[in-house]
This record gives sequence, structure tokens and C-alpha cells, in this order.
Amino acid sequence: MGSIDKPHAVCVPYPAQGHVTPMLNVAKLLHARGFDITFVNTEYNHARLIRSRGPAAVAGIPGFRFTTIPDGLPPSEDNDVTQDIATLCRSTTETCLGPFRRLLAELNDPATGHPPVTCIVSDVIMGFSIDAALELGLPYVQLWTASAISFLGYHHYRLLMDRGLAPLKDVEQLTNGFLDTPVEDVPGLRNMRLRDFPTFIRTTDPDEYMVQYVLRETDRTANASALIVNTIDDLEGEAMAAMEELGLARKVYALGPLPLLAHEDQPTLRSSITLSLWKEKEETLEWLDGREPNSVIYVNFGSITVMTKEQLLEFAWGLANSGKQFLWIVRRDLVKGDAAMLPPEFLAETKERGIMANWCPQQEVLNHPAVGAFLTHSGWNSTLEAMCGGVPVISWPFFADQQINCRYQCTVWGVGMEIDSNVRRKAVASLITEVMEGDKGKEMKKKAQEWRAEALDAAKPGGSSHRNFDELVRKVLLPKN
Ligand code: UDP
Repeated sequence: MGSIDKPHAVCVPYPAQGHVTPMLNVAKLLHARGFDITFVNTEYNHARLIRSRGPAAVAGIPGFRFTTIPDGLPPSEDNDVTQDIATLCRSTTETCLGPFRRLLAELNDPATGHPPVTCIVSDVIMGFSIDAALELGLPYVQLWTASAISFLGYHHYRLLMDRGLAPLKDVEQLTNGFLDTPVEDVPGLRNMRLRDFPTFIRTTDPDEYMVQYVLRETDRTANASALIVNTIDDLEGEAMAAMEELGLARKVYALGPLPLLAHEDQPTLRSSITLSLWKEKEETLEWLDGREPNSVIYVNFGSITVMTKEQLLEFAWGLANSGKQFLWIVRRDLVKGDAAMLPPEFLAETKERGIMANWCPQQEVLNHPAVGAFLTHSGWNSTLEAMCGGVPVISWPFFADQQINCRYQCTVWGVGMEIDSNVRRKAVASLITEVMEGDKGKEMKKKAQEWRAEALDAAKPGGSSHRNFDELVRKVLLPKN
């Protein structure tokens, strides 16, 4: 097969870290199966990648090119920060289809020497791209980068509305215990309370943009040729079966954990292309090398979470008072509207046993034997990466799907304990002690190790995710002659 006859997949991630990385892994997997790849970043992220990692990061390799479309937002004052999610969702939805159509037309121009586009793989929340795929009659596969349970959580917003639980009657319902209302008989989900549903529903506005947005985007998946979820059949089989039964997708393929599957299929490409928007501080790994097994609590709230100065201080003093060694990632933009500064007394007290950085190679960190537990916001990638590392978690969910991930970590998967959203230093210290030394911590560690074994099994040749990927390529993505 000459290079011009190769299948050609155009991959369209949503432009945030927790979406770009899983899409990159899907792209690597397809490249390893002989697909020509065009990976579409936004101009904003493309420029960030060049600044943080150098031009080589987006130079591509033979048969794997990076290209850009604008995200539709005006230039920002600080162009090295996480963009506001709601603004970005609105902007990509309203402005990206035109540039995307033009990009496809360019890619299909024989003068480029690329094979013609044969399929589109798009993030669910870049659903505008389905129109372009339908116009060209191409197979259209979507990637849901969060958990299957969270997909159902969004879909069931309608059930909450039908039962009169949403929208909220008044803002008091946010704090008067109403959010603790149990919600029974939710197809595909267990143990749910109102507070466990993705957070956009906590609104008094019946026309809230994000609610309408996620309903529209998750409705569109029914029209896709197939839906990929970064998960494992054994972990979320019940939710995925419900998604198919409810007609939310023609076929759901669990391809998780994507980092393991991509590594299994093509170990060298994994290291040659990474799209981390921040530069990792590699010294964090050297520091861990000098620590005893299971002695360090690793703290990281991902790429989007923001907190108040007061909350930052509660975490800081909780860590200090726990007496444990810690690795804490404090992003430059972690504190809302302010610099993420820690008091000199805290730094003096913990300098022998704590290290801080603004970004680290998280997957390696979670696989390091020194890490005993993870204080996390329960973003889906972090949730899976903790399982892959066999590490139990303390969870402080911030927004969107993180609440439902936390709920399942604590009540179904047996790997987590939750910190109240109104975080207090005493609770931080005592949960750290419990997870690192207590009986509950030991049980959670055992469970996390069991999930690790499941994850490794799923990703290896013959494992469930590996088989699912084979089927997806064969039945959906390869052009039918
Ligand atoms: N990440 C990382 N280094 C850091 C912080 C985060 O590599 O210091 C990666 C992490 O491994 C994960 C992603 O960024 O793959 C964060 O995604 P997640 O879904 O956990 O949370 P989000 O950032 O979307 O809230």
C-alpha cells in the first residue's frame, strides 16, 4: 500500500490538557496501525506547546502531522494559563466549524501529497465536527475523555429536571443539605445523591448555558459511528451497557487506560511525542528516588482546579501537621485571581520533607514506589492514573465530573476517601494519617493494587481494551472497499 492509499484519521481534541493527552494516545494507536494522522490543536495551545517544549514538540513525524484551527477567542493578556472552560466551550461550538471545514478541504487537496481523509475522531465536546464528517460521508468516531458514569451523570440531568430536583429553587439549596438528597433508580448509576451529579446542574437558572451545552453535546453521540471511552470494561461495564441500552451511542468501546494501551502498542512513540502544556520538573522524580517506599503523599489538583487563598493555606497546614513527606504541585494559576504564595513559616517548617513544583510527570510519579497516597481533585485522567499506579486517593473534587468520580472512588471502587469541600487543615492531616497508616488506608491500597492488575490486563495484547481497539479499527475506522 503506497502512502497515498493509507487510511487518514483527523483527530480533534477539546483544547484542555485532560482532553488533549487521551486524544494523543488514540492518535498514536491509530498511527501504529498504519493510519496517517492529522492532529488538530488550537492556535492558542500550539503556541503554548512551542513556548513550553520547543518547536520539536509539534513538528510531527512521518505520517503524523500537527495542524491548527483558531479557538475563536480574542487574544488574552496571560497566554500561559488554562482558559476559562465555559467561555471556551461556547467559542469552539460557535466558531470552529468553518475553519474545520476549510482544513478538511485543504487536507483533501491532492497537491498536499497526503492521503485523502478517511475518518474523523473527535472529542464529544467538539461535536460541531460531526456536520463536516456527515457532509463528506466519513466514519465519525467520538472520544469521551471522562468516565462512563459521568457521561450518564450529564445525560440524566433531564431525569433530575423531570423529578423537580433541578434547577434549584433558590441558592439556599446549595448549602442547606438539599444536595444530599438521594436520587434512586438512575439507569446505569448507583448510590447517587444530587451532589454527585456533574456540578453544572447546581444552578437556579433553567437556561444555564453549560447545562444546555452538555445535554446537546451528549445527545449528538447517538449519531456517531461509535463512541470511545477511556475506561476499562471491568470498571465501568454497567454504565457503558446502560449507554448503549439508552440509545446514547451505537456502540461504546472501552479503550482504557489509554496511556497503557498506547504504550503497549508503540512504546517508542510514547516518549517521542507528548503534548504537556506545562514543562515538567523532572527533579521531582530524583527527589522521590531518595525516599522510602510508600512514604510520600503526592498532591496535585490537575490543570483546571482553582481555589481560594484560604483553602490553599488549609491544605498547606494540613500537610505540615500530618508530619508526612510530600510532593505538592502548585500551578502558577492555582489560586483564583491571585498568586499561589505560601507563607515563609510553612516553607521553613516543611523544607526538610516537602518539595513543590508547578508541574510534574504525573504518570511516572504515580508509578514511583515512594508514593503512598494521592491527594487529588479526581479528574478522570488522574483517577485512572492513580489506579494504574495502585495508589489510594484522598479526593477533593472541584467541578464538572469530578464529584461523581469521587463518589465511585469512595463507595464503589474502594480506593478513596473524600475531603469536605469546605476544607479544614485538621481533616487534611487526619485523612493523610488514615490513608498512609490506618486500616482503611491498607484496604484502599489493596483495592488500588487490584485495579492496577485489572488495568494492566485490559491493555495488554488479548486484554479487553486491546480487543476493543482491534474491533474499532476493523469494523468502524478502516475504509470499506
Ligand atoms: N498532569 C501532569 N502533571 C501535573 C499535573 C497534571 O502530567 O503536574 C496531567 C495528568 O497526568 C493528567 C492531566 O494532566 O493526565 C490532568 O487531567 P485530569 O483529567 O486528571 O484533570 P483536569 O486537568 O482535566 O482537571
